Amino acid sequence: MSEFDPYLRLRPSTRGGSCRCPALRGLLLVNMFTRNPLYCEQCRNEVDPERLQLSVREVDSVADWVRVAHALQMLWLDSGEYERYAKARMLDINGQVNQKGLALAGLLSARVPTRLWFWHDPADGEPTLCPQCQRQLDKNVEWGTARCPVCPMHL
Ligand SMILES: [Zn+2]
Ligand SMILES: [Zn+2]
Repeated sequence: MSEFDPYLRLRPSTRGGSCRCPALRGLLLVNMFTRNPLYCEQCRNEVDPERLQLSVREVDSVADWVRVAHALQMLWLDSGEYERYAKARMLDINGQVNQKGLALAGLLSARVPTRLWFWHDPADGEPTLCPQCQRQLDKNVEWGTARCPVCPMHL
């Protein structure tokens, strides 16, 4: 009953529906306002951390990351005095939430290729250049707006 569940911080899914794709081709690290920010790029459902065999430390890193990404989103949505600050933090590719996100994507890519979903403000229009390498983005994506042909970035 009280057996320790090492995946608890990334469970349960609040949307129901976990990925059941027979093979994982790509993961997206993205704050979808759920506890678990690991999504299958094919079926767009959450991927259970147990399936990825994440260590307790990795679960903590992912859970810590989404907590901060979520907090910044909430500050931005609350607008007023927080809006500009939160937006600047989320749009700074060298900022903490994005650097940690990229490091996590790199770590997870040892198992399944993982991209960080980089936030942008819809009011600013669609991004055309990668925020990290400034290359033209590939807009041929089924989910989201674009991806960088070089960096593990999704937008
Ligand atoms: Zn899937
Ligand atoms: Zn790039």
